Amino acid sequence: MTDIPKNLVRRTGFPESVSRAVVTPLQPSVVYASPDPDTLDAQYEGGQFGYTYSREGHPNASVLASKIDALECGEGGLITASGMAAVTATMLGLLGQGDHIIGGDQLYGRSLRMLTQDLPRYGITATLADPTDAQAIEQAIRPETKLILVEVVSNPTLRVADMDGIADIAKRHNLILVVDNTFTTPRAYQPFAYGADVVIHSVTKLLSGHSDAMLGYVCARDPDHRAALESTIVTLGLTPSPYDCWMAERGLMSFHLRYDRAEENAAALADHLAGLAGIKHVLYPGRADHPDHNRAGALLGPRFGNMVSFELSGGRAMANALTRAMPDMAFAPTLGDIGTTVSHAASSSHRGLTPDGRAALGITEGFFRVSVGVEDIALLKDEFANALAQIS
Ligand code: PLP
Repeated sequence: MTDIPKNLVRRTGFPESVSRAVVTPLQPSVVYASPDPDTLDAQYEGGQFGYTYSREGHPNASVLASKIDALECGEGGLITASGMAAVTATMLGLLGQGDHIIGGDQLYGRSLRMLTQDLPRYGITATLADPTDAQAIEQAIRPETKLILVEVVSNPTLRVADMDGIADIAKRHNLILVVDNTFTTPRAYQPFAYGADVVIHSVTKLLSGHSDAMLGYVCARDPDHRAALESTIVTLGLTPSPYDCWMAERGLMSFHLRYDRAEENAAALADHLAGLAGIKHVLYPGRADHPDHNRAGALLGPRFGNMVSFELSGGRAMANALTRAMPDMAFAPTLGDIGTTVSHAASSSHRGLTPDGRAALGITEGFFRVSVGVEDIALLKDEFANALAQIS
């Protein structure tokens, strides 16, 4: 019987080739072998570049980060295991005990939870304020305030923040302005060009675009902030998997095409929905009846995005009937997929609020958010029209 041959367990003998792979190689290696201790020292001290251990970085994350950097006009962005890992890295990396943050009052549900329930356990407190009103943000500032976290377009009511006013406040009060650009994407808004210090993404959503990779991105303008973020990501293990980075890099290749088509569809679908019986009202920043239409036009120039919300008459019973009447469309608590998906805030993102709390935000049992995809718009319009006709 032969014993275990050396080359069977040592991964040597990869064929040399004068031609290169066209597709970025997927590099699942957790560890990297250096030639000698001097080189490893140089790698850790920055004299020579080389990967060491994949929690500290790996080629598939580097490739993806550099591509998102190019879209955001940032430098040295970092990929994390999820969008929430990017938010976590930012909060724990840039804040310490006794610090205070101001957060938009309609942030993504888990970000809200982190600010109001988790960070206080570490001595970091938060005040929520309406980001469509820069004065409300300014009034929330305390002597210990260090950071403002906002999203440009809120979920699910699609309100548009006064980003210029908030950037001005952050600058005057020397606060770190962190912008979660997941909804808007760099196609519509580039936070660094308008005064942001840190940009965050849930790459899981539009950038990756196929609901098969969970990732985040965080990029800081200040090198000290960047170093703090990187250290937090590596120490807390918020690092992404190479496979997800590889998938997201592939998804990102079609981002512009998907975004433009989905946005065009969203504008058309919003107008179509507004004319259908059974729909009380439609929210789309590109429509003249949206409360922040003018600001959206000025800020997003005018790229109004792929998200449309609407309120259905008839409460929860009709909401159940609607999703059942569209069996081919995923009823799923996400956004940014290449195909259209619908979500229902009262049973998902905002289920933790009381009915009164939801009502204050305008979220009723009939409230839906549509993440519009790239399908033929005529088919999409028919799908909603048929479903509404069937249930009414
Ligand atoms: N930020 C926003 C605006 C989001 O919509 C989400 C998720 O929906 C997140 C952050 C969190 O991202 P992830 O689900 O990738 O952790």
